This record gives sequence, C-alpha cells and structure tokens, in this order.
Amino acid sequence: MQDSALPEDSSRKFSLEKTLKLTKLRLLLMHFESKVGHIGGNLSCLDMLVVLYHRIITKDDQFILSKGHSAGALYATLWSLGRIEEQELSHFHRDNTRLSAHPPPTGIDDILFATGSLGHGLSLAAGLAMSKKLLNQSGRVYCLMSDGEWNEGSCWEALIFAKQQQLDNLTVLIDLNGLQGFGTTQEVADLSPLEEKFKCFGIDVVEVDGHDLNVLEKTLSKIQRLTFVVARTIKGKGVSFMENRVEWHYLPLSEEQYHRAVREIQSL
Ligand SMILES: [Mg+2]
Repeated sequence: MQDSALPEDSSRKFSLEKTLKLTKLRLLLMHFESKVGHIGGNLSCLDMLVVLYHRIITKDDQFILSKGHSAGALYATLWSLGRIEEQELSHFHRDNTRLSAHPPPTGIDDILFATGSLGHGLSLAAGLAMSKKLLNQSGRVYCLMSDGEWNEGSCWEALIFAKQQQLDNLTVLIDLNGLQGFGTTQEVADLSPLEEKFKCFGIDVVEVDGHDLNVLEKTLSKIQRLTFVVARTIKGKGVSFMENRVEWHYLPLSEEQYHRAVREIQSL
C-alpha cells in the first residue's frame, strides 16, 4: 500500500494529523482484505486512539477498549507505534490469528482483557483504577466506550462505583456518534443528553469535538480527576458515503468502495 509505511515507532516523528491519516489508510486496507465490517465505528474513535497512544498514555497507564468491536482501530493504532507488525495485520480476523474481530484475552501486551460484549469495559477499568489506588501506584486508566453501550445497566453500576470510590486516576472517553448497531441512539433507547445524566451523578464531564486532535490532546493531558470526556464524533469520519450512516456499523467494503474511500482519505 502506498504511503502507509510508518517507522517502527512514529511517535513525535510525524504530526498527529499525518499519523492519523496513515493509520486510517492502513485500517481501511486491513478491513478490505479481511472483508470485515465495523468500519464506521472504527473511524469515529480512531482520532481518540491515535491521540491517546501517541501523546497521552505512558508505560504506567492502562487502556481498556470497552467498545471491543473497534478492535481494528486499536490494532491499526498499535501498528502505527510499531507494536504490531505490518504483516500480522493481513491475518486480521483469519483462523488462528491474534487479531480477532474483538480484542483477544491473551497474546497482545497492550490488551489486558477480552472486550466487546458491551457494557463491561468500565467495570474492568474501574477495577484497575481501584487497584492502583489501593496499591498507591502511579499512572491512569483510560476506558474508551461507545454511546450505545450506555443502554447496558452495568455501565451505570460501574459509574456509581467509580464516583463513590472517587477514582481520580480514571478517564472515561465516550465516542458519541449518535448511532449504534440497529439505529440512532435516540431511536433505540434515548438517553440524551448523556452528558447531563453523568453530571447528575456528580461526575466531572468535559465535552469535546472527538475529531479535533489538538483539543483532544490538550484536554486529555490536563485531566487529574475522575472525568468523563464526551466526544462528539461522526461514524465513518472522513469517508463521505459512510459518514453518519448506520449501515456502516456492519458492512464490509467492496473493491470499488475501498478505492473510493482511500482516494477520499488521501485527499484530506
Ligand atoms: Mg455509537
């Protein structure tokens, strides 16, 4: 693939914008070759993953991808850091691969738990944060969630726990793209405005444009308390025929669609 080869660790060698663009192109190729969907939700959260992994997360921090169906975005981001080999991406979603459609429970150091059965990631993250707190360990825990998974009651239980324990070492990011597998979040089970409901529990909430890399970096780098970052995003961001289209939750790319998507991302 043209112009896709990042150095082994591209952190700070390229701008975030260029890193994101190359990672997005590699993600599209990976999904096209494997004929795997979930591309729309990957493109809504990829900006956050690139900022987190290239600018925010340190060796003392831990990350949980609660919206596990965006595993492709996580693998592509780890590839951009040289933590997953180029050739391994071609095994995405194949038999005997480490790179399953949802994050695997073992085999990749950066992935601590299998996720993707939605609604469990925040409980795992809160547990990790509580452990750090009890053991007086440094570092933060980051949890990336979808908006649709707030339909799950377990998310609210974990929120209550995190607030009660005042887990100031926990940052929760919500990919608020307004869509989920079977419709808009308002059609399926309306919780809007989600940010106001979080505030009712006494949670510190920051609202950001989830595609503004500079704002994401500045916001995330300042957080020192238990904070929910509500990131307004666009499902399928950057590919015109995918943006805000619910069907791109599941659809794989045809060859014509793949080439069109690549042209659009390259022209950004
Ligand atoms: Mg969503």
